[in-house]
Amino acid sequence: MCRFTVFPVRVKAEYMKIRQTHEAIAKKTFSFLELTQDRLKLAKENKHQEYITVCADLALSAATKADAVFQKEGVQAFVRNPILGIPLAIKDLILIRNIRNTCGSKLLDNYVAPYSASVIQQLEGAGAVFIGKTNLDEFGMGSSNENSPYGSVSIPGFPERVAGGSSGGSAAAVKSGSCDAALGTDTGGSIRLPSSFCGIVGIKPTYGRVSRYGQVAYASSLDQIGPMARTVEDAGLLLDLITGHDFKDSTSIPMPPTRCAAASALMTEWSKIRLGVPEEYFKSGLHPDVEKPIRQALTWAEKQGAKLVPVQLPHSEYGVAVYYLIAVSEASSNLARFDSVRYGQRKVLAEDVRDLSTFYEINRSQLGEEVKKRILLGTFALSAGYSEAYFKRACQVRRKIKEDFDRVFNTVDFIVGPVSSTVAFKKGEKTQDPLQMYLNDIFTVPANLAGLPAMSLPCGQDSNGLSVGLQLIGPAFSEEFMVSLAAGFEKGIEGVR
Ligand code: GLN
Repeated sequence: MCRFTVFPVRVKAEYMKIRQTHEAIAKKTFSFLELTQDRLKLAKENKHQEYITVCADLALSAATKADAVFQKEGVQAFVRNPILGIPLAIKDLILIRNIRNTCGSKLLDNYVAPYSASVIQQLEGAGAVFIGKTNLDEFGMGSSNENSPYGSVSIPGFPERVAGGSSGGSAAAVKSGSCDAALGTDTGGSIRLPSSFCGIVGIKPTYGRVSRYGQVAYASSLDQIGPMARTVEDAGLLLDLITGHDFKDSTSIPMPPTRCAAASALMTEWSKIRLGVPEEYFKSGLHPDVEKPIRQALTWAEKQGAKLVPVQLPHSEYGVAVYYLIAVSEASSNLARFDSVRYGQRKVLAEDVRDLSTFYEINRSQLGEEVKKRILLGTFALSAGYSEAYFKRACQVRRKIKEDFDRVFNTVDFIVGPVSSTVAFKKGEKTQDPLQMYLNDIFTVPANLAGLPAMSLPCGQDSNGLSVGLQLIGPAFSEEFMVSLAAGFEKGIEGVR
C-alpha cells in the first residue's frame, strides 16, 4: 500500500531533520522503503554529478530491514538506533563491502571493496541505508571537485558553480535531498569547504577521533572522516555513531563515542563563551560578501553575551605551503600501492611489455594530472638531499602552527572565522592557476596540521544566493562543546536571516 507519493518526501527533505523523519515514520506518513525509493530516484538522476555509484539493491534491502525493525519494536527502535533507516551517501574513498570504490580515479574504476570500513560497519550496525558513493576530486586531491574523471560536481541550483572539494559529491547530495546526511573526509578542508559552498553543516573531528580503517589514505597524518548534514543536530548525531576507539586503526584514540546530538539540544551559555577572532583570517583577501555575514554572526554572538577576543595566529600564513609539502609527501608514499599489481586496473599486462618500468608507466598513466603532479612533488620533497630542506622544515613549521593554537586556546574557547575567502567560484575559473586553487584552503588547513576539530555551518548568502560558511575551530576533543555552540549559532543565524 502506497500511502504517500514520492514527491512530497523530497520537498520535505529541504528542512526535515533525521529526528523529524523518524517522527513521520512513527506517524506512518511514509515508510523507510518509500523514503529510500525517493532518495534513490534523485540519486539516479545524478543531476549535479554527485554520485559515482548508486547502490540501489543494498539501499532497498536495508530500508526493508529498517521497516521490519520498526514494525517489531515501534518507536523504541529509534531510541536505540537514531539513524535507523536513514539514507546516507558515502564519499567514494570509504569502503563498503562488495560495492565499487573508485576514489574518483580511473585507475580504480573497476575496484570492488572486499570489506567495509569501520565507520560503515558502525553505521550498518545501527541500521543506516547507503544510497551511493559520492563523487570527489581524485583521491581527495582538490578544492573544487574539478579533478574528477566522473564529472565536476555543481551546487544544486547553481549548475555553473563548483560544489567545492574534495567531498563535493557528498555536499551536493545532502543539499539536493538525495540523501539525508553523508560522510566525507577532510585532509585539508575537504569537508568544510564543500559544506560552506553548498550551505550545509560539515564537521572535521579531532585527529584520531574517528577510525580510518577502510578509508583509502591520502595524507595519513591529516586525514579524518566526518559527517555532513543539513543541520547541526544531524551532523552531531552522525558523529556520535562513527566515533569511538578502533583497534584496527593505530591512530584511533581510546575514548568513548561523542555525545554531540545531546549537546546540540543544550542552551548555549553565551555569557561564558570567549570567541577568538584571528586577525590573520580577516585580512584584505577576504571578500566583503563573505566578511559581512561572518561579522554579523559575531556581532550577534556578542549581543548574546559572548566575549569576542582578537587573537593572533602568526604562523597560519605558512599553512598552505606547509600543508602542500606534507600532504604531497605522504600522498607519494600512500599512492605507491596503486601499482596495477596489487591495486589498480591494468591497461597492459606484464607479459605484453618489455620491462617493469614500462608496465608501471602505462598503467599508472591512468592517474589524473593533479595526482601525478603531487606524486612527483612529494617524491621530490622526500628525496635524499632535499627532505631536510623541504619535508623536515615543513614538519617544524607545522609544530609552530600547532603552538599558535595551543597559546590561543589558553585564553579563548573557540576560534571563529570564515571557511573560505570567497563564495563558490565558477567552474573553470581557477583550473589554470594552481596557486589560486591551493589558496582556497588557507583557512582550513591549519586545523588539520594541528589535528584540531573544526566545522563549517551556514551563516548567510551573498546577493546571488551563494552560501557563506562560518568556521569554528576548537581545542582537541572539544566536539561536544563545539556542536552545542554551533547549534546556538544556527538558531541565532536563522533568526537574523
Ligand atoms: N584541497 C586540499 C587538497 O587538495 C584538501 C583536500 C582534502 O581535504 N582532501 O589537498
